[in-house]
Amino acid sequence: MKSYSEHEVIIIGAGPAGMCAAIYLKRAGINPLIIEKNAPGGTLNITHKIENYPGYVDKDGTVLAFRMYSQVEELGIDLKKEEVLKIEKKDDLYLVTTNYNSYASKYVLIASGKIPRKLDAKNAKKYEGKGISYCAVCDGALYKNKVVAIIGGGNSAMESALYMSNIASKVYVINRSSVLRADKKEQDDVKKKDNVEIVYDCKVLEVMADSNKLSKIKLDNENILEVDAVFVCIGQESNTAYYQGLNLKTDNMGILVDVDMKTNINNIYACGDAISKKLYQVVTATGEGAIAATNIIKSIRK
Ligand SMILES: Cc1cc2nc3c(=O)[nH]c(=O)nc-3n(C[C@H](O)[C@H](O)[C@H](O)COP(=O)(O)OP(=O)(O)OC[C@H]3O[C@@H](n4cnc5c(N)ncnc54)[C@H](O)[C@@H]3O)c2cc1C
Repeated sequence: MKSYSEHEVIIIGAGPAGMCAAIYLKRAGINPLIIEKNAPGGTLNITHKIENYPGYVDKDGTVLAFRMYSQVEELGIDLKKEEVLKIEKKDDLYLVTTNYNSYASKYVLIASGKIPRKLDAKNAKKYEGKGISYCAVCDGALYKNKVVAIIGGGNSAMESALYMSNIASKVYVINRSSVLRADKKEQDDVKKKDNVEIVYDCKVLEVMADSNKLSKIKLDNENILEVDAVFVCIGQESNTAYYQGLNLKTDNMGILVDVDMKTNINNIYACGDAISKKLYQVVTATGEGAIAATNIIKSIRK
C-alpha cells in the first residue's frame, strides 16, 4: 500500500501567491492541495495596513487574508494545516513530507514566502519571544503605555512604528544609516507622531535585561536606551531548508524562475516572495501565482 496520497498539484503556502494559484487551478478543473503551516493569508496576517492593493480599501491585512481564504474555501479547495519538511523526487513524482503525512504530485508550486531576518546583536536570540518580536501587529498590544524600539528604516519598520505609536508611550526607530528607505508617505506619517523619535546612523549591539526581563538596548554610538520591547523589521530572507534536496537554482534573494514561474527543475514552479525578484508585494505575489497556475494548467493539458 502507498504511504502517501497523490494530488494533481501541491501548493506549499497559503499566502496571496499560493491562494491565487489555487483559485486559478480549481477554476480550470484541476484539484490542488494547499499545505500551510500557519493561518491562511501568510504575511497579510501580520500586516497592519494594506493601502496599495487595487480595489481593497479596508486596509486591514487580516481582513484581506480572510477574504482570499473565503474564496478558496468556497471553491472547495483542499487545505492541510501542516508544515512541509522535505521535498524529494520519487520516480516521476515529487514526494512532499510534512510533520504529519506524505503527499505526492507530478507538480509542486513553492509559494512559501520568506522569513524575517534576525537581529544580529548580543542576546537577541535569548530574548526572542521575551521582548524581542518580529511582528508588531501580533505582539504590540502587550506593550501598552510602554517604551519600545523599532529596528529598521523600510516600509515595514515605518508601518510598525506607526502601529506602535498608538499603543506605546514612546517609540524609538533605530535606523543604521542617515536616510530612511521607506516610501515618503510612510515616513511622513511616522514623522508626524509626537511620541516617535528616529535615531539615525546606529545599530543595536546588545540587548540587556534586568532580572531576566528585557530592559535596555546598547547602540554602537555608545548610547543605551531604556525599552520594554524591540520590534525587528530589517527585511526578510529565503526560507530554503525544506527544498535543499531539490538542487533548485537560487540567489541571495530567492528561487530563480523564468517568466512562466518555472524553476530549473522539471515541474517545480515557484512564485511570490519565495522567488528572486525586484518587487515583493501582494499585487506581484498574486500575479505570479496566476501565471504559475496558468502554465501548470497548460502543461497538464498537453
Ligand atoms: C510588515 C509587512 C508589511 C507589508 N505591507 C505590504 C503592503 O502594504 N502592501 C503590499 O502589497 N505588500 C506588503 N507586504 C508584502 C506582502 O505581505 C508580501 O509580498 C506577500 O504577502 C507575499 O505573498 P506570498 O504568498 O508570496 O508569501 P507569504 O504571504 O509570506 O505566504 C507564505 C506562506 O507560506 C507558508 N509556509 C512557509 N513555509 C512553509 C512550510 N515549510 N510548510 C507549509 N507552509 C509554509 C507561510 O506560513 C505563509 O503562510 C508587507 C510585508 C510585511 C512583512
